[in-house]
Amino acid sequence: MNRKALDELKQQIPLLDYLQAHDWQAARSIRGGRLMGLCPLHTDHKPSFLVDPGQNLFYCYGCARGGDVIRFAELYHQVKFPQAVALLREWCGVTPLLEEVTNFYRMQLSRHREAVAYLEQRGLHEPEVIEHMRIGYAPGRCLRAWLNQLGYPLSTLRQAGLVDTAGCDAYSHRIVFPLEGNLYGRSILDSVAPHRFLPAGKGGLCAWEQVRRSPEIILVEGLFDYAMLWQAGFHNVTCSLGNHLNARQFLQLCDGSRTVYLAFDADANGSGQSAAQQISRRLWSQSVTARYLAAVRKWSLQIAKISSASVRSSSRSVGFVR
Ligand SMILES: [Zn+2]
Repeated sequence: MNRKALDELKQQIPLLDYLQAHDWQAARSIRGGRLMGLCPLHTDHKPSFLVDPGQNLFYCYGCARGGDVIRFAELYHQVKFPQAVALLREWCGVTPLLEEVTNFYRMQLSRHREAVAYLEQRGLHEPEVIEHMRIGYAPGRCLRAWLNQLGYPLSTLRQAGLVDTAGCDAYSHRIVFPLEGNLYGRSILDSVAPHRFLPAGKGGLCAWEQVRRSPEIILVEGLFDYAMLWQAGFHNVTCSLGNHLNARQFLQLCDGSRTVYLAFDADANGSGQSAAQQISRRLWSQSVTARYLAAVRKWSLQIAKISSASVRSSSRSVGFVR
């Protein structure tokens, strides 16, 4: 990529837009239209991150790093320059495309009885949670035609991983949850590969912007656990999509003072519980209070059966232990 193409890419993505799309918020404005906020690159307790939207540059007084949007993407996603450029190019093109795909799948959900029945069988029935999580369904047909008609060629859909080599919907017969720059699909059939993501990374914690100011946060590993808790009235829940946190998700949990309750699966092999213990120790080492929910088999289903009010008042006695 030559200098001119790089300059064009930087013009296409204003640094502030990119930061905001990754949950950054300014704490205050300073002289010259510049902004200060918490640094997304290190565990920051007072705003040390300076953004100059006019110059499209940033500098952190805490970790002494700065530069343009490409430098930010390198540091934030922990990748080298060429990968950062590729991520930014993809971000420009993929974000509007995924928005269209999400809209299409959401329209399909109520039209397919098997999808609604699957959600009900998993305990999800409140329209509010389906709306909040923007849950959709991939019926396995019409996606390509719909996107073609919106001007997206087959090559773009293949590149994004939305269709397979034969041009068929890659999420066929899956309940689909939109994520930041990705889609999670859960097969409603007995499938050998029940889970599906696009090749892009899993991004940060789910709905982070909506919970980050909460003094107590519940962290779960799966989106169905998230949905169950949200439906039961626990709106201070977030999800890591697996029991391993990426660097960004860990930084998010450490970016303020709060208590994190880890409610991971009680798998037979104990992997969820040991991951929760390990994350808990790492959080304590960053001065974040962490507690994990003692092994309760199928705890999320149990929670769904109890009314949200009684769970709220008895959450301490349910067994949150360190
Ligand atoms: Zn910093």
